[in-house]
Amino acid sequence: MKIAFIGLGNMGAPMAANLLQAGHDVCVFDLVEAAMADLEGQGARRGESAEAACRDAEVVISMLPAGTHVRSLYLGREGQAGLLDALGHRPLIIDASTISPDDARTVGVAATERGLTYLDAPVSGGVGGAKAGSLTFIVGGDAQGFDQARPVLEGMGKNIFHAGEIGAGQVAKICNNMLLGILMSGTAEALSLGVKNGLDPAVLSEIMKQSSGGNWALNVYNPWPGVMEGSAASRDYQGGFLTDLMAKDLGLAWELALKARASVPMGSQARNLFALHSAQGHGGLDFSSIQQLYRAGEGQ
Ligand code: NAD
Repeated sequence: MKIAFIGLGNMGAPMAANLLQAGHDVCVFDLVEAAMADLEGQGARRGESAEAACRDAEVVISMLPAGTHVRSLYLGREGQAGLLDALGHRPLIIDASTISPDDARTVGVAATERGLTYLDAPVSGGVGGAKAGSLTFIVGGDAQGFDQARPVLEGMGKNIFHAGEIGAGQVAKICNNMLLGILMSGTAEALSLGVKNGLDPAVLSEIMKQSSGGNWALNVYNPWPGVMEGSAASRDYQGGFLTDLMAKDLGLAWELALKARASVPMGSQARNLFALHSAQGHGGLDFSSIQQLYRAGEGQ
């Protein structure tokens, strides 16, 4: 299929690479020149703008940081027309970014009014999952669009869920990431407690993995440097899933809680921890660097 891919960051670049591997004709666009050059080296075409990348696309996929980027791309800003008004033909639109359900619905309604099919399809699985093509896609939108998208999504992921109408994918993803934020900070807290009481972090990790404290953050994303080969922690927390993106997702969970009058004490605590960590200058590090927050005073 002819696919336009917009947003080639930590997640988008390996996702687009997997679509190329699956035999699709991919045209890419990102604001960062080097990101496009890298994909070109792997066989992608490049668009000079998002609109140019989408010109002959049957499917448009976006993978952008936050709702503001997604709204600007599709709806336009400061008097400039958005992509929805530039699409003369009718490609299927799949936004894989994590944004608020309200933003997804706003873009989705505008797309529907123009006769376009829009799906929100946020992902889980991290950069490792994006590289391995084993992401989980959590899709919101109509069933026909979901069926149309499935073969494309299968080029990037293993588990493809239909959560409900437009926005439902985002609700499920935000619930998942609130739990992940809680699990990562809890894991970091437990590791730090053990180390401050004389334990080796690798030994403690192995014990907890085989015990009732085992969880995804501990098992596949260990936040302590050197414990797990290939983890973000073992490469100075570079790349991966940024602290600021986790703080954004926990903020989205907080907004959902306010709207639904739901109580989320653990999610609120996690949001505060990641916001504090970001305010201390670590917003651009992988979110497992929350471990550093707990390491203050080590060795005293
Ligand atoms: P990132 O910051 O690494 O990449 C975003 C990319 O979008 C950048 O390359 C940036 O240049 C590009 N961009 C921004 N505005 C643009 C525009 N108008 N046109 C074209 N390109 C534009 O972010 P990421 O880690 O790849 O995450 C993307 C989304 O996926 C976020 O919503 C994030 O919450 C979600 N997510 C990330 C992970 C992860 O592990 N990193 C996991 C699951 C979900």
